[in-house]
Amino acid sequence: MKAIILLGAPGSGKGTVAERVRDRCAYLHVSTGDMLRDAVKRGTETGRQAEGYMKRGELVPDAVINLLVDQRLDAGTPDAGYMFDGYPRTIQQADMLAASFSKRNGSIRKVFLLETPRDVLISRLTGRRTCRACGTCFHVVNIPPKRDGICDACGGALYQRPDDQEATIVNRLDVYMRQTESLIAFYEKQGLLMRINSNRQAEASAGEVVRAVQALD
Ligand code: AMP
Repeated sequence: MKAIILLGAPGSGKGTVAERVRDRCAYLHVSTGDMLRDAVKRGTETGRQAEGYMKRGELVPDAVINLLVDQRLDAGTPDAGYMFDGYPRTIQQADMLAASFSKRNGSIRKVFLLETPRDVLISRLTGRRTCRACGTCFHVVNIPPKRDGICDACGGALYQRPDDQEATIVNRLDVYMRQTESLIAFYEKQGLLMRINSNRQAEASAGEVVRAVQALD
């Protein structure tokens, strides 16, 4: 079992990079944000526990997230490769991930830090539109869909995530700085961190990640 991690603030392009890497490398995309949105949509116990935190742009408690990820790993095959997007977000989650992987004789191969200036993050998040059916992201200016309000990938309806409204965005960026940024030093110390300039076309930053992932295998 092996893993790579995409680390970066909301809006840094983790999801878009993940789509490109998933299509070109043999890693399963695991987005805790997507898993939680799905749980909320289906009205599960996890969804009910998570919904309020997500609306406010706060982190869902570690215990809820860790259980979700552990169940996902249990459902996978022992030789699978995982690409985590939006997880871990706290040192406690990173410790739990390390323990889960060592228990399963797995290893974390690389952590990609997507770096983007704060003003760019805000304009990306306010303009983001997401497909309700498949989760593909667009942007009203940077990546417009071919038909207004319709997903290019599956024809589903596009919507603005409630936590992509400006007031919540500022909170999510502050939460990232307070609770997640400490993971940069955590992984740097382990020699796993690779910095990626993601203040450019998604294709360019994704290409750099894809080449680095291919070099690992
Ligand atoms: P994302 O789609 O990754 O931006 O996640 C959307 C929201 O889901 C976040 O603002 C959090 O409320 C919650 N969430 C996603 N992943 C995690 C995580 N690893 N730890 C805690 N909360 C999370």
